[in-house]
Amino acid sequence: MAIRRIHITGSPVLHRRAQEVTEFNRELSTLVKDMYQTMDKAPGVGLAATQVGIGLRVFVYDYEDADGNPVRGEVINPKLEVGPISEEPADEENEIEGCLSFPGERFPLKRANWVKLSGVDLNQNPVEIEATGWLARIFQHEYDHLEGTLYVDKLAEGYASEAADLAKEYGWGVEGNSWLPGKDKLEG
Ligand code: ZN
Repeated sequence: MAIRRIHITGSPVLHRRAQEVTEFNRELSTLVKDMYQTMDKAPGVGLAATQVGIGLRVFVYDYEDADGNPVRGEVINPKLEVGPISEEPADEENEIEGCLSFPGERFPLKRANWVKLSGVDLNQNPVEIEATGWLARIFQHEYDHLEGTLYVDKLAEGYASEAADLAKEYGWGVEGNSWLPGKDKLEG
């Protein structure tokens, strides 16, 4: 097992649709284990395979629900049913999002309050989770990664230009930027 480098915006793998997993082999199980380790070390509440440079439809998540129960797992070849998204502007306190591939920054983004995630786990057992609130947000964020979309690509106008300016300032938005959790001082 190993912690993997996290790709930063501009890395091509982050900006194209990831491919379906067809082989449930040892390589896949190593990838998933490494993704858990990398997510925990970052730390983050979710991580998509594209973020560690692998263009496959896999993500992991780790979240604590309102009762303090851990909700942790992997999903492979996910499908996501998404509820309505309000037209209201995102709340700057309660609807703020971050991303390990745009590390150290946070921006408000409106998301659907309800989703239904389905797919399979590493053992090819079905995964089916209905989620609301933060968990629904995490699933939308990670699913978007597999579609080649970062949350910063979906921001409302003012925030979008702020994010673009920051990316430019940091030298992001081009190929070759990444960071290693535990080594580099950055956070999502
Ligand atoms: Zn992300």
